[in-house]
Formats: sequence, C-alpha cells, structure tokens
Amino acid sequence: MTRPDPPRPSSTRPDPAAEDAAAPRDDTRLVHAGRAPQQHHGIVNPPVYHASTVLFPDLDTLEARARAPFDGVYYGRFGTPTSFALEQAMTELEGGHRAITTSSGLAALAVALTAFTRTDDHVLIADSVYMPTRKLCDRMLTRYGVRVEYYDPLIGAAIGTLIRPETSVVFLESPGSLTFEIQDVPAIVQAVRARQGDRRIVTMMDNTWATPLFFKPLQHGVNLSIHSATKYITGHADAMLGVVVADADTFQELKTEAVLVGQCAGPDDVYVGLRGLRTLSVRLHRHQESALALADWLQRQPEVRRVIHPGRPDDPGHALWRRDFAGASGLFAMILEPVPRQALQAMLDHMTLFGMGFSWGGFESLLLPANPATSRSATVWQEPGQLVRVHAGLEAVEDLIRDLAAGFARLRATA
Ligand SMILES: *Cc1c(COP(=O)(O)O)cnc(C)c1O
Repeated sequence: MTRPDPPRPSSTRPDPAAEDAAAPRDDTRLVHAGRAPQQHHGIVNPPVYHASTVLFPDLDTLEARARAPFDGVYYGRFGTPTSFALEQAMTELEGGHRAITTSSGLAALAVALTAFTRTDDHVLIADSVYMPTRKLCDRMLTRYGVRVEYYDPLIGAAIGTLIRPETSVVFLESPGSLTFEIQDVPAIVQAVRARQGDRRIVTMMDNTWATPLFFKPLQHGVNLSIHSATKYITGHADAMLGVVVADADTFQELKTEAVLVGQCAGPDDVYVGLRGLRTLSVRLHRHQESALALADWLQRQPEVRRVIHPGRPDDPGHALWRRDFAGASGLFAMILEPVPRQALQAMLDHMTLFGMGFSWGGFESLLLPANPATSRSATVWQEPGQLVRVHAGLEAVEDLIRDLAAGFARLRATA
C-alpha cells in the first residue's frame, strides 16, 4: 500500500531536548516520569492512595501545611501522591510548571475557562472547538456576564484585530474537533502577546488530539494545555480523566479554581491514566500508521468525497501540521458523497469491527456520523455529504479495511 508522505517518527523531529544531550527523550520520560520505586518498597508503579482525611501530627504541622496547601499532601481533594505522579509526568512531557488532574476532560476545560474569566470579560474561542466546550461557553460563561466571541480557526495572526481591552482568554484547539483545521499556534500566540496591554491575556489550548507526544503547546508560548486524558492517555476506554498543564504564570490561579469548585479525579482513574501513559508512544505510532493507511484507502473509494486528515499532503492543514506537530494520532474524518439515510444506516449498523459511539483514543476502532454545521457561528460548514469521524484502533489494518469495504458494499446496494 502506498502511503503518501509519511510523517517522520517523532524521534527524528527537532526536539528541544536534543539541544541538551543529557535531557531524556519523550519515550524515556514516558517510562520514568512520575515514578519513584524506592520510595515504595521498590515496587515499579506508584501506589493508589484512596484518601479524604490526611492526619497532621501536631498543630505546627497543620498550620504550616495550611499556609501552602498546594505543596504536599493536605486533604484528599487537593491531591495525593497518586495524582501528583500523573501531574508530574504530564508537566515534564509538556515542559510546564505544574499540572492539575480533574474528573473528566470537560471538567478540565471548565476549570481553565472559569479560572481566567470575570464578569464583562471578552473571550475568543476557535469556531471548531469540541461541541461541549462551546456549550460551556454559551451556557455558563455568558451566565456570569462573559462575552463569548468565536473566531475562524484559520485566522492566524489576524486574531490581533479581535482583541479588545477586556479580552482575558484566547482559546485554541488544533486540529479542530470533527473538521481537523490546523491552527497557526505560534502566529496566534505572538499576535495575542503583541496586543496585550496591562491586562494579561491567557492563551489555552485543547491538546487532546496530539497528546504531549505530538504537540507541546507551552513550548509555543501557550499558557495552559488541556487534555481529555480519557482518550489516548488512558487509552483503553475505561476511565474519565482530565489534565491541565500550566506555566508558572497561571498555575496558582488554576489550582485555586480547581480547589474552589471541588475538582479532583478519582484515584483509580488517575492510576489507569498513569499506566496508559507508559505505553502512549507505541500505541500512538500504531494509531497513526493505521489511520494514514485507512485514510489512503478511503480516499480512493468512490463513495468518499473527501478525507480530512492533516497528515495527508493534500490536506489544507498539512504544511502547518508538518511544521509544528511531531505526528498525527488515529482520529480523522471522511465526507461521503450524498446518500439517503438508509444507505448510511446499512453501512453503519452492520460493521463488525468498527463500533459506533462517542469518545475515542481507546484501542478499538470507531465510526461516528456527525454534523459540524450545527456547531459553527464564525464560519460556515457547507459540505453536501455526511461527515463520518473515524478512529483507527489497534486492530490489523487489513481487517479494518475489509470491514469498511463490506460497509461500502452495503451502502452501495441500498443507495
Ligand atoms: C472528549 C473530548 C473532550 C472531553 O473529554 P471528556 O474526558 O470526555 O470529558 C475535550 N476535548 C476534546 C477535543 C475531546 O475529544
């Protein structure tokens, strides 16, 4: 199978760590970050602490810890050595200051957005964001008097023209959910900085698609990198988990907000997140390879109008993706030629390997029909055919192609 212009493996991409020959590469960090076996009887993995109450030996200790409740163990909700381990690993991988863990990716987004917005603030949100992010902005931030404005994700440096004196947050997600637009992150960050007056403007990015391995927002000047660790980091479709990695300018306020609203993650979910991280690199490279192979095959099917995958040279976002990203994960989309609903149904209802459902990033392949037109306001989505999001799982790609081919045969027979 010919594969167009395969991305170079992340290890051959310019790596900031490469400048310091002694700094470990990402694959090494994934294995060792957030672990200290000799502190736990030599046991390889950190223990799962189930905790609410933390006992203080004396009044002096209680008072000292109360003065710095984010530094060390204080109360279960503030974090445990289990959550600190995942936070430390994610911080190291993305070159941050510190991180927080939350009960889901959406909770991570909510904490980040509410922490840095006040009544009468103005926020700029990419028009291609994950739909629940849009709902959070439209239904919650507006309730507290925040003005929400959506911008064309491809705006680049022209974001500067949208900045107002009261702008407090610029939110990015790249590639965009469902439609996979690649944003010019460095240009946006630079333009925001140039327009920043006395008032700090916090830039934040949903980095779930790339994971810390394929993109590092903080190294491009973004203040906060937000993850649904539910997806690739956990990697097995068996936990809900969020992580926000913060720089030194934003961590204190972020953590304060998380504690204020009671955000924390369950210890077992944190544990499987941390366990998933150890194998992220091998899984992600396989997801990438299979997704490119599927995209290549799909593009050649007459029923497919267009494949949207930034790792393909014909994709409008390819040049930016190639400049900034170290790889592509396993999630992309195809747009079918217009067909009656029964034809789509004939295809989707009888897949044997591809499941149909929300989320992604687990070991299994998924197909999900979606309509981006309903979650746009600054741009217009006008593709005539059905968009189907594809998650390439870890199955043998030949078997996945056979499943898709049978699906298209059913679609054709019904159309
Ligand atoms: C799934 C997802 C989220 C939300 O994560 P949950 O863990 O499901 O709450 C946020 N952003 C993106 C891009 C997602 O795909």
